[in-house]
Amino acid sequence: MLFEKAGQPLRKVELPMPRPAVGEVLIRVRACAVCRTDLHVVDGELPQPKLPLIPGHEIVGTVEAKGEGTERFEIGDRVGIPWLGWTCGECSYCLWGRENLCDKARFTGYTIDGGYADYTVADQRFCFRVPDFYGDAEAAPLLCAGLIGYRSLAKAGDGKRLGIYGFGAAAHIVAQVARYQNREIYAFTRPGDKAAAKFAFELGAVWAGDSNELPQVKLDSAIIFAPVGDLVPQALRTVDKGGIVVCGGIHMSDIPSFPYEILWEERSLCSIANLTRQDGEEFLALAPKIPVRTEVQVFALEEANEALARLRSGKIQGAAVLLMEATKPTTKVA
Ligand SMILES: [Zn+2]
Ligand SMILES: [Zn+2]
Repeated sequence: MLFEKAGQPLRKVELPMPRPAVGEVLIRVRACAVCRTDLHVVDGELPQPKLPLIPGHEIVGTVEAKGEGTERFEIGDRVGIPWLGWTCGECSYCLWGRENLCDKARFTGYTIDGGYADYTVADQRFCFRVPDFYGDAEAAPLLCAGLIGYRSLAKAGDGKRLGIYGFGAAAHIVAQVARYQNREIYAFTRPGDKAAAKFAFELGAVWAGDSNELPQVKLDSAIIFAPVGDLVPQALRTVDKGGIVVCGGIHMSDIPSFPYEILWEERSLCSIANLTRQDGEEFLALAPKIPVRTEVQVFALEEANEALARLRSGKIQGAAVLLMEATKPTTKVA
């Protein structure tokens, strides 16, 4: 499913089979989750995507072939491919354990082709082993919603009372990790979205309400997953002195100006960008122990536009996943 121009639907096309280069694996895609970042890409909100582009960066698949010098995986191994697809390994960010900030980083489904396809190639160094605990569709959302959510949660510190703004794919995973860590979850949903509030309670939230409400107690931290800049001052108002507000998304509408007093008293405001391989290894080891369970709504590959449309209008509970088995069998290109 090919992205060619912002604002246009993805187009179903037949492309030549990709070939794995040195150090790459050819992956038969089994499932690819649909992330809000994919929406930002197809809506033209992120600068300079590869064009044309195969979106998708929460990929679960099996190794079908290996390029020269590819030793990490065997044919048939199940692997996960995340957003971080390549880093330079040489810049100060890479050398200091912050490869998520690498100046030359390449990103799956953004600057390199991703998983809205039957086959893709990936650099073996950036693939993960997928825990056996999960089916293909259930594992896919762990690769971004899970990883970025986990990084956001770590950044939020150890405070007990955690606010979460936007109760979508990332939030439904983070909530389970936070509960496992004995935190209290305060879920903030779109005003009037009773279904999202109910979903939050099912996942163990102690409080759920509209994003413009203030709970009775002050929170230690808040994570904003919704791409809505207006939520930043709202979230700052909910956190206590010394509290932190973490913006977990790649894109956000402009943040309105706000009085200094809601930041004063050592509150902090920060963002999370991308992931490191370390985040991935840690989270994928932890997820089956909790165990994190993902709720998925499955679509066929050809239904990618429909899945994106439903995500845009807030009609997905949990995560949308393209499941390739749901499509007709593909003929392998020689
Ligand atoms: Zn680098
Ligand atoms: Zn993502």
